[in-house]
Amino acid sequence: MRFGTKAIHAGQEPDPTTGAIMTPIYQTSTYVQESPGVHKGYAYARGKNPTRVALERCLAELENAKHGLCFSSGMGAADAIIKLLVPGDEVIATDDLYGGSYRMFTKVFAKYGIVFHFVDMHDFDLLEKTVNEKTKMLWVETPTNPMMKIIDIERCVALAKKHHLISVIDNTFASPYLQNPLDMNADIVMHSATKYLNGHSDVVMGALCTNDDNLYEQLAFIANSCGATPGPQDSFLVLRGLKTLHVRMERHCSNGVVVANFLANHPKVEKVYWPGFPSHPNHEVAKKQMRDFGGMISFSLKGDRFEDASTLAQNVHVFSLAESLGGVESLLGHPASMTHASIPKAEREKSGITDSLLRLSVGIEDAEDLIEDLTNALNAI
Ligand SMILES: *Cc1c(COP(=O)(O)O)cnc(C)c1O
Repeated sequence: MRFGTKAIHAGQEPDPTTGAIMTPIYQTSTYVQESPGVHKGYAYARGKNPTRVALERCLAELENAKHGLCFSSGMGAADAIIKLLVPGDEVIATDDLYGGSYRMFTKVFAKYGIVFHFVDMHDFDLLEKTVNEKTKMLWVETPTNPMMKIIDIERCVALAKKHHLISVIDNTFASPYLQNPLDMNADIVMHSATKYLNGHSDVVMGALCTNDDNLYEQLAFIANSCGATPGPQDSFLVLRGLKTLHVRMERHCSNGVVVANFLANHPKVEKVYWPGFPSHPNHEVAKKQMRDFGGMISFSLKGDRFEDASTLAQNVHVFSLAESLGGVESLLGHPASMTHASIPKAEREKSGITDSLLRLSVGIEDAEDLIEDLTNALNAI
């Protein structure tokens, strides 16, 4: 089956008792057993729930994976992955990492003796030099947030294989519609399902997919033991959201082209960060590993004044000023004061997060309305 057909049907059969075409919300905490220890594979809902299983099957199919596993948030999924490790183990992660992952690594897991290195993953010499006998995991995020850098997944995975490291790809920004890291031999693909997978900004959820039976067994054991598993209502909503993933992504991508080009030609805009431009430093890698370029775009303003970014943010009406991304509605964020506020100014400016940098999650509204909205907001500066 192809992507759109899988998005709608994978993991889902009509309900055997009624023929209901939609997977029921199995709102139950436990399951009646026929005799002690004899049951239909469901014993207690922290471990397994049929609505969640349908979602896990569907997600696995979309990532061309053997196994899928859902968590109560993206961070819950990331937490389970790090719990594969033991004190003394080392992880090499992308330097331009999602802030929540960085916080969990440095503020929570560092306390338990796990060592994290944050490396510019365009620099393969540095990457190679950072590996030592204690390195156990390579954690890659691409495209990165908010600078939209593209990291070469195949090269990273090859390096991980050479040194027997577990390779993890946070695929949240791309979604399985744009890239499938397991096809490039990665060990684990991770998602904040809160974003594109659900797509309607009404659920917080995480997910993992893998082809490795052993890793899956360990991760499912951790999920059940530690308990960050999602409930059936949220599982149903994400399963419903997935049915339109391919259609939504097509529009995110086509709107992304229009908005990126509009910004690139606007006299008040200094720089636009979007991997679809041939001038983007990683455009060739993006073309190689992604099917399209997506609707995540960052840009800075001429003069780089915080006041101008703030004026723009207060004058949009179709875009909303909010954290998060990947929903049907367009969002605008100001990384320096929002997602990256905890990073000292000198530090964040080194990575390009200047005072006027704005990040757009281009939604699936009519492109003309998005352009009008941005035109008006830019005129207010
Ligand atoms: C949002 C996000 C996460 C965390 O997911 P939650 O569902 O918010 O816990 C992890 N990685 C990336 C790239 C994200 O955008």
